[in-house]
Amino acid sequence: MLRVRRRDYIGTLLRYLPTCRTGMLPGVKAAIVSIGTELTNGLTVDTNSAWLSLELASIGWDVGLHVTVPDDRDAIAAAVRQGVAQSDAVFVNGGLGPTADDLTRESISEAVGQGLSRDPELLRQIESYFDKLGRSMPESNKRQADIPIGGHGIANTCGTAPGVRVMFDGKTIYAMPGVPREMKVMFERSILPELPVDSNRTSTVVRTIRCFGAGEANIGEQIADLMTSGRQPVVGITAHDSIISVRVIARDAAIAEAEVADIRGRLGQLVFGEDATTLQSAVGQLLLDQKVTVSVAESCTGGMLGGRLTDVSGSSGYFQGGVVTYAYEAKTDLLGVPADLMMQKGAVNGEVASMMASACRRRFGTDYALSITGVAGPGGGSDEKPVGLVWFGLADAGGVVVEKRLFGTHLTRWEIRDRACKVALNLLRLRMTGESG
Ligand code: AMP
Ligand code: MG
Repeated sequence: MLRVRRRDYIGTLLRYLPTCRTGMLPGVKAAIVSIGTELTNGLTVDTNSAWLSLELASIGWDVGLHVTVPDDRDAIAAAVRQGVAQSDAVFVNGGLGPTADDLTRESISEAVGQGLSRDPELLRQIESYFDKLGRSMPESNKRQADIPIGGHGIANTCGTAPGVRVMFDGKTIYAMPGVPREMKVMFERSILPELPVDSNRTSTVVRTIRCFGAGEANIGEQIADLMTSGRQPVVGITAHDSIISVRVIARDAAIAEAEVADIRGRLGQLVFGEDATTLQSAVGQLLLDQKVTVSVAESCTGGMLGGRLTDVSGSSGYFQGGVVTYAYEAKTDLLGVPADLMMQKGAVNGEVASMMASACRRRFGTDYALSITGVAGPGGGSDEKPVGLVWFGLADAGGVVVEKRLFGTHLTRWEIRDRACKVALNLLRLRMTGESG
């Protein structure tokens, strides 16, 4: 089996070598086909495709197609044929189990026009897997040793489902189990080593610039000319829970650096960091660098802000503590907010936010204090104070500033609380970088 594997590998290499030699690099193209009704109906998120794409990118391959199909023989066969037509290799995952809904073997055999034949060596491997567990092999598992004629099995070291490797139309089709752990081990041990590395493309550098404080469209407009199709380096933008990420994919570090510098220059104070940086880690770094401390007084976020600040390792270097003053009484008892003020005007307004922040700063003896009071919903809103209305306070030696945000009634309770924490952290960030009043 090893010899055959090597022949496949050399065959693949030989097909790509001429283009490499002439310097014309179209890139090796791959298609990924994920199989499972649980994927198409949304019960399981297809993480296998994303993982495989990253792995293939790491050896310089281009993934040009992701297809997800249910456990349906015709749909799987059509997806495999589409992959073969558009790519140099097809990576199928899922549907190799022993049950009636596992149809990948039959579908590939249909797609390549070859019948199935039971591989005695694979059958022995599956039997020995059960032997080691001290169990007898159910009859249904025998199907897992069926391979399209002309194809080969790929050993599965952590499950029963062997993989399949079969050539069709000069392209290689690989089928792997759907269980992510089994798929990964099989890919890393048995497939990746035989894939040719496109070294001209492996030096890809990815940088991700994290932004907060403007919408995706607004940020997109400021860098629209960098995102035109076909341009190098590739610049893309995504939004996730109000953090806007601008991704730069470049051939080398110098090109990436120049592009990142350009984007940072354009976006200015909207940028809070890169890659794994979060608002709380960016703020934490500023607090550490400037050797100052912070405390928090929270109402509608119920401790989330303190939680986020302490998500960061080393936060004891700047975070003194927080109070969750949810009820009027707590705001009065712990922070001295006058009860009659809240009786008249409620607890969601600038005066209360201001008092919460300045009292918090005094009680904790910190350089800065942040406060949050708002209507997280979904109930409790009014015309005057709708769901999503949140007031913030930021106290420091110079006094207190307050800010108001209307996050909108379309957001969930979690989203409003999440955005509130981010706005509070961003207020402090801008103050500490001298970019706010
Ligand atoms: P299968 O090999 O198709 O029987 O898949 C076995 C299990 O692996 C499924 O029930 C899912 O829980 C999981 N799984 C299958 N495909 C994927 C995928 N593309 N991404 C993440 N999990 C998957
Ligand atoms: Mg399945």
